[in-house]
Amino acid sequence: DLSPAGDGPDSRGTVVGSVQDGFAAALGGVPDGVWAAPGRVNLIGEHTDYSEGFALPIAIPQATFLAAAARDDGLLRLHSTQGDGRTTVLRTEELKPGAVTTWAAYPAGVVWALNESGYPVGGADLYFDSHVPTGAGLSSSAALECVVAAAYNDLYELGLGPVDIALVAQHAENAFAGVPCGAMDQMASACSTAGRALHLDTRSMTAISIPFDPEQAGLHLLVVDTRVKHDLGDGAYAALRHGCEAAAGHLGLGALRDLPAARLPDAVRSLPADLGRLVRHVVTENARVEQAVALLNSGDIAGLGPVLSAGHASLRDDYRTSCPETDLAVDAAVAAGALGARMTGGGFGGSVIALVPGGRVAAVTEAVTTAFRSAGYAAPGIFPVVPSPGARRLL
Ligand code: ADP
Ligand code: MG
Repeated sequence: DLSPAGDGPDSRGTVVGSVQDGFAAALGGVPDGVWAAPGRVNLIGEHTDYSEGFALPIAIPQATFLAAAARDDGLLRLHSTQGDGRTTVLRTEELKPGAVTTWAAYPAGVVWALNESGYPVGGADLYFDSHVPTGAGLSSSAALECVVAAAYNDLYELGLGPVDIALVAQHAENAFAGVPCGAMDQMASACSTAGRALHLDTRSMTAISIPFDPEQAGLHLLVVDTRVKHDLGDGAYAALRHGCEAAAGHLGLGALRDLPAARLPDAVRSLPADLGRLVRHVVTENARVEQAVALLNSGDIAGLGPVLSAGHASLRDDYRTSCPETDLAVDAAVAAGALGARMTGGGFGGSVIALVPGGRVAAVTEAVTTAFRSAGYAAPGIFPVVPSPGARRLL
């Protein structure tokens, strides 16, 4: 079972044609344009974005495509190939948090968030088709939000830059869909560049793209979708976020970002054990981002391997967001020759990334597949990814 199709030069015409056709069949007429926004994997810097820390994501080739047309009657009509088979019809002036409880909360939330943020916008017909697996830790929700924000930006001539698009998308997910996520996913989907990773500072919301071309170094970045569906709405994510905020409060800090590594041992000793281990993850993870950035800037992509594995150990032992399936994928990949591997995204399932020498890709794929079969787990989805462009107009 291999990857969903990418949107590279070969498939681009097909993808555009197919969402135009889908739009005509589900909503009628011809769209004003077609947009794409990608999913992401985070190389390192997990569960740091809501502590005002650092992350290092890349956009992946798998994207969510949107054929859209503006409407002047205030209606918002939404249809998704991955939705419930029905067209959702909403009135833009009636949108408010809690009013939409289906998948449509993500795109409708963006329209609401634009109006909330001082960008008066009206209705639209929106037809989606996504190649980002949903609920797999690859940020299909951010792709869905960012593609709407990008389309509205053009249709309503809002003049938003990529960071503005990300922040509106995050606001939609937080306040309208009710998921208390940080900004990393939306920043990756909105601001990424092909062939580069995004060094993200979530305090200043600056995103500096740095070179990341594993293939030039003879390496491949594999994604292992464990098929274990996480549900970030189930309270676990919110509990972690509250734990970090409580720990920062105990330590007299605005955010855990402000704890210097030299003070970490004292800080951990002064906190209840459950908060201390959260703090240890966040502080060491921020340091791993800086380490990874230095490695990539010096062209040492292979050096990233041990940093990935150390990040996984920290999520497994301290932050405790891994699960047996992600741990098994990491261990099997490394045993079969990956230079390093880690879960990526919120956790509790989802996906693992592995940095693999070209000659070991088949062995790693085989080893992970076999390990899952032996453990009685569902077959994982394993596919390579390359750093890809962020949200953009295709037509
Ligand atoms: P992730 O972002 O890791 O994929 P989330 O739980 O944050 O996982 O978001 C997944 C949810 O986003 C899905 O359950 C669905 O409601 C919504 N979603 C994402 N992409 C689409 C799509 N193309 N069509 C309909 N709903 C989608
Ligand atoms: Mg998500």
